Amino acid sequence: MRIAILSRGPELYSTQRLVEAAETRGHEVLVIDALRCYMNINSVNPEIHYKGKILKDIDAVIPRIGASVTFYGTAVLRQFEMMNVFPLNESVAISRSRDKLRSMQLLSRKGIGLPVTGFAHSPDDIEDLLKTVGGAPVVIKLLEGTQGVGVVLAETKSAATSVIQAFNGLKADILVQEFIEEAKGADIRCFVIGGKVIAAIKRQGQEGEFRSNLHQGGSASLVKISAAERATAVNAAKAMGLNVCGVDLLRSNHGPVVMEVNSSPGLEGIEGATAKDIAGMIIEFIEKNIGKKQNQSRTR
Ligand code: ADP
Ligand code: GLU
Repeated sequence: MRIAILSRGPELYSTQRLVEAAETRGHEVLVIDALRCYMNINSVNPEIHYKGKILKDIDAVIPRIGASVTFYGTAVLRQFEMMNVFPLNESVAISRSRDKLRSMQLLSRKGIGLPVTGFAHSPDDIEDLLKTVGGAPVVIKLLEGTQGVGVVLAETKSAATSVIQAFNGLKADILVQEFIEEAKGADIRCFVIGGKVIAAIKRQGQEGEFRSNLHQGGSASLVKISAAERATAVNAAKAMGLNVCGVDLLRSNHGPVVMEVNSSPGLEGIEGATAKDIAGMIIEFIEKNIGKKQNQSRTR
């Protein structure tokens, strides 16, 4: 096969591992920067141009689209889909997963466990907003944040009120969530491929830190997950319509709750902790599914 990897970082661990795994299995690989692709959407035969040439005869595309380039990146991916190239994850599912509010509404509609969560932009009655999620302590998040930046633990009602007022001043969309204290600063990343959890790691925040993000100094280790956690991760991936994703769970006293579903999960932490060839499993998934019909990710 000829496989295109949409990635802006050919030097990144995940990109390199995917290239290596595909080549080991006898495939040809191109790493393409989606932002440098240009397209003629009027043509009868949809085309993608890259560095003065037309991209041709590509069988499958692996999107590794960064959050900051979601809009253009998914447009390029959509063009590949119009050319009948098999996408590892479909553009519509990636767009969906990048919208936290839409994702949580979809997951809740499917009955998947979530932290009690409120959304707001300019709440006139902060006290009432806090009441709807059970009161302080709460976790307040900027909708646009990543890697744990813009995630604040407010332990008292007055702290929560100040933080909400501050975010309000920034005219930002925010999410107010029950604080899952019993998770003890840890979360579980379940790596899902084709409806199966193929690996799971526990990420533990530094001493005194409730955020477990590796970017905030957290550490990853192997973990055994329960049947309920496995089912939650699989159902979340299915609801989002993602073939490959990372489902982040918290262990709450009302069962596993989904915090986020990531459509471009990194491979370094999980391959490092589990010693599994996850890049190889992703390529194998493409080999097995390439002939199958697309548009399986449409959900209502
Ligand atoms: P980001 O998308 O920026 O990583 P998250 O929503 O994943 O932000 O939050 C970062 C970290 O903070 C999580 O990995 C988790 O460890 C912790 N966390 C987030 N929400 C909660 C919560 N409601 N209760 C307890 N811990 C939380
Ligand atoms: N049914 C629509 C779709 O598949 C929207 C579902 C959603 O993501 O909320 O794109």
